[in-house]
Order: sequence, then structure tokens, then C-alpha cells
Amino acid sequence: MESQPLRTSVIGSYPFPGWLEFSAQHLSSFGSADLSEMQDDAATVAIQDQIAAGLDVITDGEQTRFDFNLSFYGFIEGITLEPASPRRFGPPAHDQRGKHEITGELRAPRGLGAVEEFQRLKRLAGASGKRLKVSVPGPYTLSGRLAPNTQYPDRYAITQALLPIVRQEIADLVAAGAEEICVDEPSMSCYGFREDTRRFVDLFNRTVESGYGRARICTHLCFGNFKGHPVGYRKYAPLFPAFFDLHCDEIHVEMANREYAELEIIGEIAKRTDVAVGIIDVKSYYIETPQNIAEAVKACLKYAPAERLVFAPDCGLSQTARWAARQKLANMVAGVQLVRQSL
Ligand SMILES: [Zn+2]
Repeated sequence: MESQPLRTSVIGSYPFPGWLEFSAQHLSSFGSADLSEMQDDAATVAIQDQIAAGLDVITDGEQTRFDFNLSFYGFIEGITLEPASPRRFGPPAHDQRGKHEITGELRAPRGLGAVEEFQRLKRLAGASGKRLKVSVPGPYTLSGRLAPNTQYPDRYAITQALLPIVRQEIADLVAAGAEEICVDEPSMSCYGFREDTRRFVDLFNRTVESGYGRARICTHLCFGNFKGHPVGYRKYAPLFPAFFDLHCDEIHVEMANREYAELEIIGEIAKRTDVAVGIIDVKSYYIETPQNIAEAVKACLKYAPAERLVFAPDCGLSQTARWAARQKLANMVAGVQLVRQSL
């Protein structure tokens, strides 16, 4: 897959505008045409913010996943929507998000919706000259929101059932012309310290076999971002060397929020694939300056060559207020540009 030195990219999600959050809580007031218009408008807002920032690679900001029925889970048959949160008060944490119940065979006869998202992105941003990226969660990450039952007794059984569904979605994305597909597996990085990492690699490689070599396959390995809070054991060392065998063209690692701990790992990753480095802390309201970014880029260049390096925020921006997300992206691009000029 082709490379672009010091490429600037994003993970996928972007904060919803206030009007979209409000509308998502009042969907019954809208007709189907209103809803289509809303989806187009929401994606346009995210696209325009990313273009204005000057990014090389853009997404639709995952702006149309604003309702359960429009999320990946809404496309999967055999599950019912999670009941109300088991804990509604107190500090935000992952336990406030319940699990969807499995009530039948897991199937997705209409796909997962990512193809429609990509087609919308292409229609709205195809003329921008920007590289378009679409993201889908990997089956292990997707399984985390589903409660095991007698038919699917543990998380791996659910993952096995979801794997062909995601694999088919990737095949359909390639057929639709997607050139860059991010298969998000943050649950693998969160729990790799206590799980069989070889088993993770096998699951990932079987998932992407429908796209690897036909599109640029990326993966995003962060340590969680529930309302700005991580959940994983925030070290990459337990994932390697097994994860060097992931069949992908770009591995993304979260660095800014971890004060660039284990930065040397990007040198090892870059021997095999492109490495995307998180240099924007999506959990902090300190806005990185272009100078901060340029220093981080230069630190990365001590370990990996420019041709292998991609720069992005640590995670999707959906949990970061839009005013901050917009400025952080603009400063990221400006900072990378400062270093590009000095190469
Ligand atoms: Zn993430």
C-alpha cells in the first residue's frame, strides 16, 4: 500500500454538534426524509471541520451512528437493546453502560451499515481530493457490549459468531471502492495483558482476510475512552511481539495521553508496517500548540522514518468538545507541517 511521509489522519469519530444530540433524543418527531437530511448534514459538518484543519485523511466522523438502530448493534439480528443503565449516578465509568442481551442467532443480513456510511462519505467528500477512511469495529471489540448466554457462553464464542459478519462487511467495503479501512480493536489492547495475544492475532487476521492486500487496512489499539476515561492496563509491551504479525498496513498507538511512554515500540512496528502515532490527547483540554506537535513529531522521527509515520489523535474525538477537537486538529496539522518543511 502506498505511503505519504508524515501523513495526518484521524481515528474516526468526531463530536456530535449540539443540534444532533438534541435531535437524536427526539427522533420520533422526524420523518424518513428528515432523517436522511439530518445524516447528510451531520456528516457534512464533520467533513468540513476536518478539511478546514488540513488533514490528509478524513472520515465521516461516525456522525450517523447517533441512535441504537443506526449503530452496528442495530444491524445485528438476535439481540435486544440493553436495559436502562444499571448505575445512573455517580462518577462516569464503563459499568454505567449495560450489555445488550442475545436472544437468538447472531446474524446481519443487511450488513453493519458501514457500506452506506462510506457511500455517503464518498458522495459528500469525494471531490475534496482527501483520502477517505471508513472504520468498523473488530469482532472482539464488538462482542464486549453483548452478554453471553447458553448459546454463546463466553466472549470468544460471541466473537467467533461476529467474525464472519465483520469479514463480510470489509469485503463489501472493498467492493464499494473503500481504499482505507480501519478495523478498530481497542478491546484487544485493553485486555491483551491478561489474554492470549496469539489468539487475538489469529482472530484479527481471519477477520481482515477479505480486505488485506486489497485496501489499506489499519487498526486502532487504544486503552479505552468512556467519557474521557481509559479502562485498560496502559502498556503496549504485553501485546508484542505477537502483534507484529497482525495483517494490516497501519497500526495506531495511543501516545500523547501516556506522555509518550514506550515510544520506542514505534520503531519496531515501523520495520513491518506504517505506524500511526497518537499525538493529540483527546482526554485533555490543554490544546497542544503546533510547537508541541512539532517536538513530538521529531521525537518519533528518532525511531521511525518519515515514510512510515502517520499522525493522529490518541483516539476518536467523540468524547472531546467540538471547539477543542477543531483546534487540536488544526494545530496537529500545523505542527506536522512545520517538520515537513524542515525535512
Ligand atoms: Zn480509542
